[in-house]
Amino acid sequence: MTQEEKRELESRLAEFTRQERNKLYRRAAKLRRAAERRSKPKERRRMRGDTRHWLDRDPDEPDPRRKTKRSGAPSLDHVVLRLLREEEIEAGAQAPEPPDADRQTGTIVSVRRGACVVRCAGGRIECVLPPELAVEQKNRIAVGDQVMVRPVAEDRMRLDTVLPRRTKLSRPDPHIEERERVIAANLDAVVFVLSVRRPPLRFRLIDRFLIAAQRGAVEPILCVNKIDQLDSREERRTLEENLEPFRRIGLTVRLVSATEGVGIEPIRELLRGKRCAFVGPSGTGKSSILNRLDPGLALRTGSVSDWSSKGTHTTTASELYELPGGIEVIDTPGIRTFGLWEVRLEELSWYFPEFGEVGGCRFGDCSHVHEPGCAIRDAVDGGRIPATRYDTYMRIRRSLA
Ligand code: GDP
Ligand code: ZN
Repeated sequence: MTQEEKRELESRLAEFTRQERNKLYRRAAKLRRAAERRSKPKERRRMRGDTRHWLDRDPDEPDPRRKTKRSGAPSLDHVVLRLLREEEIEAGAQAPEPPDADRQTGTIVSVRRGACVVRCAGGRIECVLPPELAVEQKNRIAVGDQVMVRPVAEDRMRLDTVLPRRTKLSRPDPHIEERERVIAANLDAVVFVLSVRRPPLRFRLIDRFLIAAQRGAVEPILCVNKIDQLDSREERRTLEENLEPFRRIGLTVRLVSATEGVGIEPIRELLRGKRCAFVGPSGTGKSSILNRLDPGLALRTGSVSDWSSKGTHTTTASELYELPGGIEVIDTPGIRTFGLWEVRLEELSWYFPEFGEVGGCRFGDCSHVHEPGCAIRDAVDGGRIPATRYDTYMRIRRSLA
């Protein structure tokens, strides 16, 4: 019996009296004797040699390595544990539905220390967090989480359960790097807003954004704002050329001018019925675009030169807004830039989908750096993979090494 099983058995037996335990063990012994009689012929077959690796075996089939030497039968503790597990399953199946009339599901729309606001059928209600969630609040709950809530007093609700997340966007905790901080949950899309100038367009940020979106299983959308600042056709053509590699790997790219109202309707169409987050460096025009999508939001916009002081004035709380067209936007100051949370060096090339399309390096675990017969480097030389993307791969590789 493994340590884990031993612990499980002990904890399950803890609530039994000595008499109940004895009874349980007698029942287990009887069951084991019956099972032994039935399985004798099989047992001999196994003794002649079951050569399958234990990983190939059905997990419910008893592991022969875990049998007592004397009889080849499972230990009594094993049988008892199995009985207890089965009884729990049966009890669960028979139990009446808990009196849940007052319990409801909802979506977290904002979070603050020890409490959150949940949107449910009855509107937006403030809920206190149970202590076990309050201590780990930064990664256990996030705006966008589906939750169950129940009333605890006449005018107070309490968050009960956080339902499993469909997608999430996270980053390393700024204080403890190994710890995850979930910034938003259950997003359909994440819109990365960059501007063509002031602040200048940094293509490398796009690569990091793509990795973060893929990790969280969220659809990435790139929005290049302030195209009114392009002075000539020439500049426009250069921009399109630089964006081409990203379009080629399937990234949705939209060019926008928030001040002139250009490209706003296509963005609305793209986001219709979706929940998304707007992210990107300060001053690229996120608030301006959101205000265009819904003037009622009246988000404060800053001047570019003003961005550092702006940072100190904005609140640190995330919030979910509802826009016309069934669009939900989570505005979160936490995701202006992307750290690469938990990307392992050997996984890095998975996040470059165009590498997968080329494929076929001589070595299965090719790092695409120095090995002979590397199909990726060949493709870069032949122009089938843009050199800029390969440079980014190398740069991120170095930063992870
Ligand atoms: P945020 O920090 O990303 O939310 O950016 P803001 O929406 O606050 O915009 C920053 C500055 O850029 C403001 O001064 C805006 O007026 C300006 N801005 C936003 N969109 C555009 C645009 O499409 N064209 C130009 N020329 N300026 C813009
Ligand atoms: Zn290779």
